[in-house]
Amino acid sequence: MTARVLIVDDLELNVKVLAAKLTAEYFDVITAMSGTAALEAIERENPDIVLLDVMMPDMDGVEVCRRIRADSKMMHLPVVMVTALSEPADRVRGLDAGADDFLTKPVDDAALLARVRTLVRLKSMMDELRLREETSSKLGLEANDEPLRDRDLSGALILAVEDDPTDAAVITDALSSAYTVVVEADGERALTVARERPFDLVIVSLLHAQADGLRVCSKLRALEETRHHSLLALLREDDTESLIKALEIGVNDYIVKPIDENELFARTRTQIRRKLYQDRLRDNYRERIAMAVTDPLTGLHNRRYLLSHLANLVARAGKGGKPVAVAMIDIDHFKAVNDSWGHLVGDAVLAECGARIKLGIRGVDLAVRYGGEEFVVVMPDTGSDDANLVAERLTRSISGSSIAVSHDVKKVEITVSAGVAVVNGADDNAEALLQRADDALYSAKRGGRNRVVMAG
Ligand code: GH3
Ligand code: MG
Ligand code: MG
Repeated sequence: MTARVLIVDDLELNVKVLAAKLTAEYFDVITAMSGTAALEAIERENPDIVLLDVMMPDMDGVEVCRRIRADSKMMHLPVVMVTALSEPADRVRGLDAGADDFLTKPVDDAALLARVRTLVRLKSMMDELRLREETSSKLGLEANDEPLRDRDLSGALILAVEDDPTDAAVITDALSSAYTVVVEADGERALTVARERPFDLVIVSLLHAQADGLRVCSKLRALEETRHHSLLALLREDDTESLIKALEIGVNDYIVKPIDENELFARTRTQIRRKLYQDRLRDNYRERIAMAVTDPLTGLHNRRYLLSHLANLVARAGKGGKPVAVAMIDIDHFKAVNDSWGHLVGDAVLAECGARIKLGIRGVDLAVRYGGEEFVVVMPDTGSDDANLVAERLTRSISGSSIAVSHDVKKVEITVSAGVAVVNGADDNAEALLQRADDALYSAKRGGRNRVVMAG
């Protein structure tokens, strides 16, 4: 278990003392010497925890903490106040500002480490849970536990960080018949290599003569690109101290030297299987989200996505931002298409309509299948004149040429009607905007169909 720790203190000596203690425990340390610099470092470096001095000249720790808690991007960051003050009143002030914990100077090593570890562990768990909960509740989704298919492990990519040529050869012998193995003797270079390719497993020797293997492991755990790689440590049998550290850092498994090839092979396979399984869960999760916001027939976004997306856009436009327009497009007499050609032909016509709409809009516009034969196009940064032009163009692209469906049905001719509305003032909202577009669409229908009507 490792993490990025931001140390904030206006006295260089204090920074150095804390940094030394944490670095020795394989934390990735960054530092800032003022409150302002701390807030910038948080934005830029995305730390997992902040150790914050209370008394600083430009902006004190309590104020820094308050600002962290007030910013939606930083508000969940654990903050430990490090203070020479031990009056209860000072603690209350810090807690009111949102600090998670306190340490009194001079800082006791064991207490420091215990707190940092606990808070970081909690944070990563919470991050994950929050992400899932947020997304799932937004989408109204249930978790989907598909059974694990037997995956082919042979494409797996392994990096061995090992400077002993004999052991490097043993690793290659044991694994290269089944996997692709890259050996890197230099610890620093290994970190670069590890970030460049999607390794499934990194084997790190802790007996490394030229590099601190534990540091390599902790770096791998701290870096965004390598955080999810499996880690297997190689160490001496009697080196309990390194083993404990390695496990704390988050090494997944270990093996003692001299290496037994079979054991290495078995442990490697287990780790690779676990890694691929995790990857798959992550992919599934993304896929489920994509499915939940996409209409399968047309590939356009669905109504659920539109409603969550449009609310944000309208709110921004209402606060004096750029205008936002929506066009609601409905196929005329679509029932007749189904009645004369059948439902499958109807589906093909809908898919083609969706494709023509998608072709006729910009990348920033959003095309949505809103209902059965109804589409919505959202156009950011678009005023009513331009929106009207776009709607005219889209309707012509659909009605202008017949739709070839299949060999037995030659061609289907359809027209569409559209209603267009633009965000109107700070009190406007997505629902009202869609309602105005819908009213305009209704006028288009009553006016004889095959036309565009502007709302208002
Ligand atoms: P109007 O010009 O007033 O819009 O007439 P309309 O026939 O298009 O409108 P109405 O709402 O009466 O009928 C819509 C039809 O669209 C009825 C429904 O069966 C059909 N429909 C809705 N979803 C689908 C679909 O996914 N596939 C197919 N093939 N038909 C669909
Ligand atoms: Mg219709
Ligand atoms: Mg309709």
